[in-house]
Amino acid sequence: MVIHMNVDNEINKNKGLLIDILSNLVSFESVLKEDDETPFGIETKKCLDYALNTCKSFGLNTKNLDDYCGYVEYGDGKEIGVVCHLDVVPAGDTWKTPPFKLTKIDDKLYGRGTSDDKGASAAMIIALKILKDNNIDLNNHKVRLIFGCNEETGSLCMKHYKEKEKPFEYGFTPDGDFPCINGEKGHITGTFKYKTSLEIEGGVVSNAVAGKVKIKVDNTKFDKEIFDKYLNDNGLTVNYLDNYIEVIGKSAHASTPDIGKNAITFAIYALNKAGYQDELINNYIKIFDLNNNGENLGINISDKFGDLTIVNGKIDTSNGYAMGTFDIRVPVSADIESIINKLHGLKIDRADKPLYYDENSFLVKRLMDAYQKVTNDYDSKPKVIGGGTYAKSFDNCVAFGCEFEKTNNIHEPNEFVKIDELLLQVKLYIEAILSLSK
Ligand SMILES: [Zn+2]
Repeated sequence: MVIHMNVDNEINKNKGLLIDILSNLVSFESVLKEDDETPFGIETKKCLDYALNTCKSFGLNTKNLDDYCGYVEYGDGKEIGVVCHLDVVPAGDTWKTPPFKLTKIDDKLYGRGTSDDKGASAAMIIALKILKDNNIDLNNHKVRLIFGCNEETGSLCMKHYKEKEKPFEYGFTPDGDFPCINGEKGHITGTFKYKTSLEIEGGVVSNAVAGKVKIKVDNTKFDKEIFDKYLNDNGLTVNYLDNYIEVIGKSAHASTPDIGKNAITFAIYALNKAGYQDELINNYIKIFDLNNNGENLGINISDKFGDLTIVNGKIDTSNGYAMGTFDIRVPVSADIESIINKLHGLKIDRADKPLYYDENSFLVKRLMDAYQKVTNDYDSKPKVIGGGTYAKSFDNCVAFGCEFEKTNNIHEPNEFVKIDELLLQVKLYIEAILSLSK
């Protein structure tokens, strides 16, 4: 197929428009909100309407699927799906710029969603516009860009999509890393509940290592010196405040617990070492281990892509019971059922199987070809991650983009995208579509 266009020129021509579209997308505070009119909140609906109307103004066909998600298409024939999302996680309050106003500082654009995943959404909109403006023949293929509205809080948007629409042939989701993610660990989440005489409260979210825990405990029931020494020896800080003890560790994403230090887990081990006993402590130690690898449950499986990980993200007490969360990431080659069978006494909320496509599969090879052609980085290899993307919602789908290095502060304050990398995304997505439609 001969492509009669200079892609770099086309991208340059559309640079102002690309930033303008991203600026508009960021201006909607598309965080999950409960209301009676819309599935995920009015701001999220407005953001979806804006994206679809913008595409329509370029002469592309669009469809809104009941405000759960929507899509825009170019071409005709075998369907290539590209799945982005327009919802974002809450901003938090330590931003140096207004989180819902796109702000340019030097070579970067700041704002919630600039990287995850509104930047990729804007880049894909421009990619389709360029294909359409140049009347590019996709060799009997159609590309369908799908905008989801609930990726961050359960992906109900994609459940709805699959109820309404036929599956696509091949697809990618620009909601992970370049060059391409050919494996995603399986994911099991749930809760535990045990009787306790402690008052304990720690962690912020279920999918992160708890950085801090507060404990109210009867001082006569454990040896304070042993407790302090154990925590200090392990690099944690203990503070004795008015009427509780505070233990500070280090937070980390649940898929990479080794770079953190779980304050809850270490504090409970320290209490146990110091002689404190109750139903919570005794059971906790059978579930969570200090290596975060499931050895105490007998599920410490590894493969060449990494280890199983288990993390207790949150804990809280009420009426004499402690309730907490667990998050398990399952190696791509493991059988998730055999792991579930060993989780006695734990309540499972969700279990997603691992995803893995061989490096030589059509989808991974064609995407890697596109990446290498555009970047000249012929040493790059697809990777396996502990997190999960929309790819798990579909057959024949992997993550391709949108981060080049893990530095864009996604889900954190001061999220940004570099302008040159945003432009490079457009080029990579165009090349990926051409490569998959060859
Ligand atoms: Zn995302």
